[in-house]
Amino acid sequence: MNPFARTPLALLLVLSSGVAPLRAQEKLGYTDTPAIPGTPWHVHDGSRPQPRVVTPGATFSLLAPPPSDAVVLFDGRDLSQWESIHGGEPKWTLTDGILEVVPFSGNIRTKQRFADFQLHLEYAEPAVIKGKGQYRGNSGVLINGMYEVQILDSYESPTYPDGQSGALYGQMPPLVNACKPPGEWQSYDIIFESPRWDAAGVLVKKAAVTVIQNGVVLHHRHEFFGSTDGINGVPHKALGAYLKPHPPEVVVELQEHRNPVRFRNIWIRTLGDYDHP
Ligand code: MG
Repeated sequence: MNPFARTPLALLLVLSSGVAPLRAQEKLGYTDTPAIPGTPWHVHDGSRPQPRVVTPGATFSLLAPPPSDAVVLFDGRDLSQWESIHGGEPKWTLTDGILEVVPFSGNIRTKQRFADFQLHLEYAEPAVIKGKGQYRGNSGVLINGMYEVQILDSYESPTYPDGQSGALYGQMPPLVNACKPPGEWQSYDIIFESPRWDAAGVLVKKAAVTVIQNGVVLHHRHEFFGSTDGINGVPHKALGAYLKPHPPEVVVELQEHRNPVRFRNIWIRTLGDYDHP
């Protein structure tokens, strides 16, 4: 039977008028990935809502001196607080007080370890835009090499929401997108609480993080489901799992993801505890 036999003439005219079909929405992510516990979405799900865009106000904290009890991790003078994750000196460049990622040189991490900390860092995405999505200004704050707060140029550059700037990678998009344009200096203030295990190796406290980007809250004491690398290199079944106990004292790692992201003014201070001055 002719499928158009009962189709109104007007519709036939539209169907035959040569109007190009709507382009399918650009595929941003994946759906053949593990389901994220407690959500209707999958890891890197492109249909997850894109965070609302917020234009940050002037961030007067940029280049502000650290508090008196902070450990200065980078003040533009040297990289003595850092090492390559491959061992030895960091292979990133230090020019005019600015630390810059060297593609294919590997991540760098702090020599010291910190439990429950407040971290301040400033970064700038490459002013010259190259690539898109996950390939545009990708770096990250990888706490203990396993809990990533994403650094990405997400200024008018969509990607899967749980991988955009400020996402807890593969787990939770930020509440909002507070990115500045590429080339501009931006700030992250990250308050991290380490996970804890009891003597029997049972997880008794998940890692939790508060993230403020350019003076705007992205996460408020949000718990990690586990290690954030469940999709890249770690079996999918590991998603949502804390793979094995580790001490509360952890390193801060900065990710080399092929893009020349720049850093300055990095400091950290241990939170301590109430009634323990
Ligand atoms: Mg990254």
